[in-house]
This record gives sequence, structure tokens and C-alpha cells, in this order.
Amino acid sequence: MTTFADLQLAEPLLRALTEEGYTEPTPIQAQSIPHLLAGRDLLGLAQTGTGKTAAFALPILQHLLTHRRPATPKGPRVLVLAPTRELASQIDESFKAYARHMKLTHAVIFGGVGQGRQVEAMRRGVDVLVAAPGRLLDLMGQGFIDLRDLEVLVLDEADRMLDMGFVRDIRRIVAVLPKDRQTLLFSATMPHSITELANSLLRDPAKVEVTPPSSTVDRIRQAVMFVESDHKKDALLLLLNSPKVVRAVVFTLMKHEANKVTEFLNKHGITAEAIHGNKSQGARERAMSGFRSGAVKVLVATDIAARGIDVDDVSHVFNYDLPNIPESYVHRIGRTARAGREGWAVSFCDSEQRAWLKDIERTIGKSVPVVRDHPYHSDAAENSTMRPPVLGGGGGRGRGGPPRGGNGGNGGRRSGGGGGGGGGGRPSGTRRVA
Ligand code: AMP
Repeated sequence: MTTFADLQLAEPLLRALTEEGYTEPTPIQAQSIPHLLAGRDLLGLAQTGTGKTAAFALPILQHLLTHRRPATPKGPRVLVLAPTRELASQIDESFKAYARHMKLTHAVIFGGVGQGRQVEAMRRGVDVLVAAPGRLLDLMGQGFIDLRDLEVLVLDEADRMLDMGFVRDIRRIVAVLPKDRQTLLFSATMPHSITELANSLLRDPAKVEVTPPSSTVDRIRQAVMFVESDHKKDALLLLLNSPKVVRAVVFTLMKHEANKVTEFLNKHGITAEAIHGNKSQGARERAMSGFRSGAVKVLVATDIAARGIDVDDVSHVFNYDLPNIPESYVHRIGRTARAGREGWAVSFCDSEQRAWLKDIERTIGKSVPVVRDHPYHSDAAENSTMRPPVLGGGGGRGRGGPPRGGNGGNGGRRSGGGGGGGGGGRPSGTRRVA
């Protein structure tokens, strides 16, 4: 087990961490900190709740400790870009907490409030500036901020910044930075646009990836309904017709099942699109933009396609089929309750998938509440001791191929692959952090 001391963090930081009650590094911290202390660029695939803020703040503070120089007026040494004022404030608070036993000047700037205090802070000089892109550009334009001597740039929640239309702002900011700097980019998802941005900003980055921790999962209200496969379509229709469902993602194991469910929903007056590995990139992007705009209420997806679903206000995730890989359950339900919102994850479990539910419950460390009060409840599924179908070997239900991999050459939308193929393997991702 790695400790913070093993990571070679300086004593004032170790003391602050102890006081914060952190006993051991989270996976993203254990993986990122050594690379960052060595001065490397970093591409981090991680959601909020994984401990990513400390993963970048601690090595940055250590850099400031070991390379002391006074903060110059207007010219921060470190810039953290964040999409929203809430996140920017949180990051600023974290720096303050971890730096409590060292000397640090810091400021946070965002729009929607008067600029007077922000300008004043810059005039005095800060080591670490946390900023939302719009206000930063504003103050740069007015000559209150000068980034020519920047040493470290962090882009946090880069996918959200792009979703919010900040890509041009980011490029304009980066254009004035010195080439010789350390750059870190964190994103919860890795759509093509992020890969492109990362390629243009990062130099030979170390790549780290963690799955959402159970603390994220804890915010999602989960339920399971025992429903035999013949009744799943009707049960789904019943649920989707609830006024509480604003936007939903439905997961199936098989591509052809995704198509069938989509057809069924459209026939019954619910706008749905399927996304899976047999769909072209163009078709997937059209489906995603329809979903994002609200023209499409339901996306029906297989696991391989789920990686690219980066929409914040998904109210419900429905597991039409349970995933055969427990970690996929965590990935799937992480499509809802994003950005601090509430979310529901309702899973159907048939007799064949009963064993998978047990595996999932073991992985998330708790049992999923059962809802029995509906017309399709099956005691047989609930009490099933059937062995689960073997997928991928032509066995099981005797249909289709495996649910993962082999996505017809469309390319997974993540750089490292989801299954531990790249970047030093996937960490154990379901650790509780807070
Ligand atoms: P973040 O993903 O950076 O938003 O962090 C999520 C939460 O985890 C915050 O409340 C942190 O204070 C907390 N946290 C970060 N690192 C650790 C750790 N090593 N041990 C315990 N809690 C942590």
C-alpha cells in the first residue's frame, strides 16, 4: 500500500494531509503524483470525487516549496482553469487547505461578480490562480494578468469546459503561455475533441485513468426490478412514461437488442436512438447531439458506446440488461447524477443475470434495493440460481457476439481503452474516498 510519505511529499504537505484526515492516497493520487513530481505532463481520466484535486494540487505545492521565488504582480506561477465558479472556488479552497503549513498566495477569479477584489489580488501577486476562462480573458485583455512567466497549467474538467463552449477561450489563453511549462489535463470523459485538445497541449504526457469511486455511486439512487426478458420492453415503457424521466440512457448487452428496443420505443411514441459499435462515428454524433438538445429522449447504448456519453442532465439510467462485468455497472450508472445533480439508476434483472447482480453488489459494496411493486415482477428471477450465460464464446443465449470489444473499427472513444489495455493498466477503481 502506497502512503503519502512514499510519494516523497514534503513534510508541511504531509502534516496538512494528516490534519485533513487523509490516511492514504486515492488511486488517481498514487498514480499521478510521481509523474507530476518528475515534471511530466499528464492526461488524467477521472471524475470529481476521485481525489483528483489533491492529485494535482499536492505536486504543484511541492514544486512551489522547492522552487521558491516571490510572486510577481499580475504574473501567477500556476494557473488552474475550471469550467464553473463553484469548481474554481472548491479548487482554490483545496489549495489553501493543503498549503496551510507553507507560504502560498492564491486567488480565484470568475465572472458574475465585481472584478475589483480579483484585480487587487492580481496586483499583489499570486502563486496559484484558479480561474474560469471567460473572466480570465477579460482581465488579461485589460492588462491585469500576464501569463508570460507561467510554470504550470492545469485544465480541470476539460470535457465540461468544451461542452460549455470554452474551446476558443482556452486556445486564446494557451497561445500566450510559455512553451516551456508543465501542462495537466483532467477530464471525466475522453471524446474526440478532448483527445485533440490534449494532443495539441501536452508533451509526451503520462496517462492515468480511474473509474468513478463509490462516493459518486452513492449519490445515485439505485433500484433493481426482477423482470424476465419477455417483459422487459413493456416494463421499460412503463418507466419511461413517468414524468420524472427527462433524459434517459438505456443499456443493453447486445447491439441488435439495442436496435430492437429503440424501434419498440419509437413505435410507442418515445423518441429514441441507438448507439453502438456498428454505428458510424457520424451516426453516433448525430444521436448524441439530438440527445443533448432534447430532441431525443432516450439513448439506447451498449457498453462500448457508453464511454462517449458526456451529457450532464441524464435523469435516469436503465440497465435493460445487467452488464456481465461489474465495473461496467459503475461506468454505466455514472452517466447520471453528474455535475452534482440527482440521478436514478434502475436495473432489470432476469433469471439468467441473477448471478451478475450478486457480483455487482459485491463490487459496489452494498445491495441494490429491490422494487417489487410493479406488474412485471418475477419471483423466479429473484430466486434464480441459474448460472449466468457465457458471453463471447458463442454460448449463453446463443445470440450475437460479446458486448465488449470488436466495435467494427469505429474506435473506442477513449485513448487508453476501457479494459486496462493502455497506460499501465486500470487501477482498482471503486475505492471510497471521502
Ligand atoms: P475531488 O475528486 O478532488 O473533488 O475530491 C473528492 C473528495 O475526496 C474531497 O472531499 C477531498 O477532500 C477528498 N479526498 C481527496 N483525497 C483524499 C484522500 N487521499 N483521502 C481521503 N479523502 C480524500
